[in-house]
Amino acid sequence: MSMFLTPSYPNAKQCPACDSDNTDAELALYDWAYTREGPFAYSRCNDCGALYATEELSPAALERYYPRHYAAYVDDAAFGLIRGTAHRVGMAKRCRTIEQLCQGGRLLDIGCGAGAFLRAMQARGPWNVIGLERDQKAVKLARDSGLDVHWGDIATSNLAGAFDVITLWDVIEHLERPRDILRRIAGWLAVDGWLILRTPDAASRQARWFGARWAGYDPPRHRVIYSFGALEILARRCGLALWQVPGPQGSSALASLSMRNLALAHEWPHWLAESQIHPLVQIAWWPACAFWDAIEGGAELVVAAKRLGTTNHPYG
Ligand SMILES: [Zn+2]
Repeated sequence: MSMFLTPSYPNAKQCPACDSDNTDAELALYDWAYTREGPFAYSRCNDCGALYATEELSPAALERYYPRHYAAYVDDAAFGLIRGTAHRVGMAKRCRTIEQLCQGGRLLDIGCGAGAFLRAMQARGPWNVIGLERDQKAVKLARDSGLDVHWGDIATSNLAGAFDVITLWDVIEHLERPRDILRRIAGWLAVDGWLILRTPDAASRQARWFGARWAGYDPPRHRVIYSFGALEILARRCGLALWQVPGPQGSSALASLSMRNLALAHEWPHWLAESQIHPLVQIAWWPACAFWDAIEGGAELVVAAKRLGTTNHPYG
């Protein structure tokens, strides 16, 4: 066990998504993305399929495992042509997911990083956008571009509701106590508001295929990796009904990161391992991933949630 971890979970046997104690120690994972440290212990819930970290991260560990160059904190204006184009395509896809459900109003993006998604929404319609971000450098970048971004985290923020849309892109997997946090977020929704979130799919074919090297696990930063069933149970306990957003969700970025993890684990030459995340290699992966996505769904879950009893199936 790393010195930055404490085995102090009140009950490491209990699933943080559904409370079941029908769980098994399952995977010992390594931080291939940044520190190469490990192993980090994860258990799998036999009832809902969630995979979760069984050792708590200390404040010192947060500093250590979220390095300054952590991808979400980087200024997207500095991207090159290929990465920049892929980034804009991804943002446009997020915007369309929102527009399917709601055409304007007050929108909060939690974990907004440098604010790329907020700027994309602002450019497309009558949205009053606000961000919440815990990284000070990212907050400064976002504010410098004219956005209203609050510094802080969900548990302690004094943000006032009610939001027509709240988004959590690649955030919920980072939360130690997802139920407390999701309840708080649900309280910020307008009566008719939507919560949209994206997170790696623990039940995906890609997760099975790459095993412990799958980039969707990203230990120790990802605390809980959900299946759709796990998210549904968690949402219901927070007073939310949940639907999967239809259509394939891109999996090529996770595939190329996973290939790099695999290369590092097998001690391939450094240049060969790093070349797996080159934008051109990601583009080369795209057709195969699109094919898999079409057959069996993507490597990520994108879901829409609303207060229980307020709506019928939005995609029915
Ligand atoms: Zn569970």
